[in-house]
Amino acid sequence: MTGAHLDELRREVRGFVADQLAAGAFTPLIDSWLCGWDESFTASLAKQGWLGMTVPVHYGGHGRSFQERFVVTEELLAAGAPVAAHWIADRQIVPSLLKYGTEEQKSEFLPRIVAGECFFGIGMSEPDSGSDLASVRTRAVRVDGGWSITGTKVWTSGAHRAHAFIVLARTEPVDPSHRHAGLSQFIVDLRAPGVQVRPIISMNGGHHFNEVVLDEVFVPDAMVFGEIGHGWTQVTSELSFERSGPERFLSTFPLLARALENTSDDPELGRLVARVAGLHHMSTAVAGALERGENPDVPAAVVKVLGTTVEGDIADYADRQNGDDAATEAEWAHLVATAVDQRPGFTLRGGTNEVLRGVIARGLGLR
Ligand SMILES: Cc1cc2nc3c(=O)[nH]c(=O)nc-3n(C[C@H](O)[C@H](O)[C@H](O)COP(=O)(O)OP(=O)(O)OC[C@H]3O[C@@H](n4cnc5c(N)ncnc54)[C@H](O)[C@@H]3O)c2cc1C
Repeated sequence: MTGAHLDELRREVRGFVADQLAAGAFTPLIDSWLCGWDESFTASLAKQGWLGMTVPVHYGGHGRSFQERFVVTEELLAAGAPVAAHWIADRQIVPSLLKYGTEEQKSEFLPRIVAGECFFGIGMSEPDSGSDLASVRTRAVRVDGGWSITGTKVWTSGAHRAHAFIVLARTEPVDPSHRHAGLSQFIVDLRAPGVQVRPIISMNGGHHFNEVVLDEVFVPDAMVFGEIGHGWTQVTSELSFERSGPERFLSTFPLLARALENTSDDPELGRLVARVAGLHHMSTAVAGALERGENPDVPAAVVKVLGTTVEGDIADYADRQNGDDAATEAEWAHLVATAVDQRPGFTLRGGTNEVLRGVIARGLGLR
């Protein structure tokens, strides 16, 4: 993959974004990969061949590289484009399916993800299990032809709109000496009997979170994801994809871009730009490691800690510029308010920064 080729792709995406903006297809959003659910925009990306880019051609995909996908997603996020509908499916379900999925699962889901017609959620967190995922209490019990799952998942982004989510559940009782053993993953249809999706409304009125209650939900053997008992290994390999991408430093980028349109000699703004530029290089390097099949969990954690800190600092910077000036332009004020509202979640989702510092320390041999 040459740099010139990637530059050409970047220009192509920028042209597309400019056309979409001019056509009024979207207005730039903050945290667009969580809040910007727009299935028609997703469909237009699918038409461009920009969903499931790394999916092999024989599964209906485009057989392109992680770096190419990186360029496309980076440009879309920088523009604040509404990419939430397909985000989880495209970012982590695709690589997980390719690594752990059965032929049947790959054939069923990959072509639909590439077409922008199948959306996924993540069913890891529970009311009493977040950072300490091994403590999940959702249980899957063997029944004729499959598994019966009972438990409650929480903070499930997009579950009210997605088709399915991957649930982490206990299939063996906890063994205190091997807490990570006995966990398994299942692809659960969010419209199956026994699934109840309850909205959790954010303080600003937004709805992206949900609580998902599973009451003896039948999951056929064909929807066991990976191997029974290997859930922990599978989840941790998924997390490198979840933690290292450009969404971990670009959630507030539209604010930075707009601030730069008005000011060019503010050293604080310069420092923010420099930090984002550094993260671009670090995140690109992790995309390269993922392409080579490595497991860059420690570098991914570094990107997430530094990246989510800078995107929060951009929100703070914009908020300070806003001040109490009632004359502030409405669109800018709305972007800033959204950034301030969304900011607390940046360092929590996908593993909190405190926990990630522990991962980094362990990776460096410090604990
Ligand atoms: C915007 C957003 C979207 C999300 N989407 C999803 C989703 O789609 N699916 C899903 O499954 N989950 C989702 N989550 C949940 C997210 O993964 C959890 O919030 C996160 O893992 C933290 O878990 P918790 O909230 O239970 O906090 P806890 O684990 O209870 O932690 C509370 C505090 O204690 C600290 N802490 C805990 N353990 C340690 C430790 N070992 N060392 C140091 N400090 C520690 C934490 O850093 C935190 O500050 C989402 C969260 C947010 C904010």
